[in-house]
Amino acid sequence: MTLPANQSRVAIVGAGHAGGRVAQHLRALGHRGPIALIGDEKHAPYERPALSKELLLGEKTVADLTLAPVGFWSETHPDLRIDRHFARARRVLTDRTELILDDENSTRILFDQLVIATGGTARIPGIEGADDRRIHTLRTIDDCLALREALAHCRTIAIVGGGVIGMEVAAAASKLGVKATVFEAADRIMSRVLPQAASEWLAGVHRENGVTIEAGVRVRRIEHEAPSSWRVYYGEGADSVQADVVLLAAGIQCAVDFLNETSIAGPDGILVDAFCRSPVAPWCYAAGDVAATANAFYGQTLRQETWRNAENQARAVAEFISGRTEPFNELPWMWTDQYGFNIQVVGHPGVDDCTVTRGVLGAGPTTLVSIREGRISGAVMINQGRERRVLERLIGERVTVNARRMADTSIALKEIA
Ligand SMILES: Cc1cc2nc3c(=O)[nH]c(=O)nc-3n(C[C@H](O)[C@H](O)[C@H](O)COP(=O)(O)OP(=O)(O)OC[C@H]3O[C@@H](n4cnc5c(N)ncnc54)[C@H](O)[C@@H]3O)c2cc1C
Repeated sequence: MTLPANQSRVAIVGAGHAGGRVAQHLRALGHRGPIALIGDEKHAPYERPALSKELLLGEKTVADLTLAPVGFWSETHPDLRIDRHFARARRVLTDRTELILDDENSTRILFDQLVIATGGTARIPGIEGADDRRIHTLRTIDDCLALREALAHCRTIAIVGGGVIGMEVAAAASKLGVKATVFEAADRIMSRVLPQAASEWLAGVHRENGVTIEAGVRVRRIEHEAPSSWRVYYGEGADSVQADVVLLAAGIQCAVDFLNETSIAGPDGILVDAFCRSPVAPWCYAAGDVAATANAFYGQTLRQETWRNAENQARAVAEFISGRTEPFNELPWMWTDQYGFNIQVVGHPGVDDCTVTRGVLGAGPTTLVSIREGRISGAVMINQGRERRVLERLIGERVTVNARRMADTSIALKEIA
């Protein structure tokens, strides 16, 4: 007998941002079936952006990060309760739609729908010595608190990776009076999200604040020298720097090991269609960082590691389970805060796109618009978030634009199209 959609048994693996939100939305949508929320962290589901900003700087507390009041997660009413399992998922038996946990009892959970929201773990790059457990990574509240403690007692930090998290930590370190050296293998920082001009401007801001950036070099070896001293060797020669603390900020590895015996996970997360559903297991949904989703804006599969994607894809998954028929289509958007600059990136600025700068970088609000084949592919707003909605519309509607008019700041963006 098939159960009505709102009474099905849902198992959510990953009790982070997306997983927690799926549970919340399912209840808000009137789902009355059992919901099992399985997560291997001891904290209530929380949002992560503050881990490299306000929590690291001591400007927010752990409690500020949680998705919902404590009462929501400890609800006892049988129709509203979320069955919270503090454990890792170990295996999925696809033929029986059953999940096995890595707890004392090897708990088994039967489900009608499985939601995978396991995000990822900090990637440990293949550098000699990088697997030393005293080296920091930054993905969880516990990682953040450990790094915060270390920053309070050190003078220098070496950061391996000049992406968003690496540069946010460099900015935080600088604010705390800690001298940071950032190593980036690409020829510039944040090259995956920022066009060249914005990347170079931001590197200049970091240097003005005392951060050393070694771009276009590879770290070869990380060596523990003394109780609180490391030596980081980089480049082809004998170059090295001393650091009291080392942080690896080299991206994430999708957390899909528990799916090894299935064909649900691929080399880059969980491939899902525009309904966030696995093509090989129609009862399986994915949301958040782990989901590689068919994206109609760009006609390709995108795996987004952003707060808004976790937020919106989680809502979409809850709605699909509840009967939604409209596909999910998320235009990429992320933000970063560094030295008082709020930088927002919308769409997908490409390295080969033509970039038009509206305004003067570093001298007030500025927008850099990336144009590909006459259409806006993405944009970077620096202290200019109020332009986000119009840019999203221009990108979403694939409006044709003229680069010369675009550079003219006397013409409002909404009049350019
Ligand atoms: C330091 C930091 C700063 C960030 N800053 C920004 C920002 O400024 N702007 C922005 O747009 N985005 C930012 N992000 C990205 C954003 O936080 C993520 O995109 C979002 O957290 C993804 O949510 P998720 O639910 O997919 O993954 P997560 O929130 O990571 O949740 C996944 C959960 O699943 C658990 N898990 C994994 N495997 C298993 C298993 N087998 N069994 C049980 N549980 C498991 C994990 O422990 C984790 O608790 C930042 C991320 C980090 C780490």
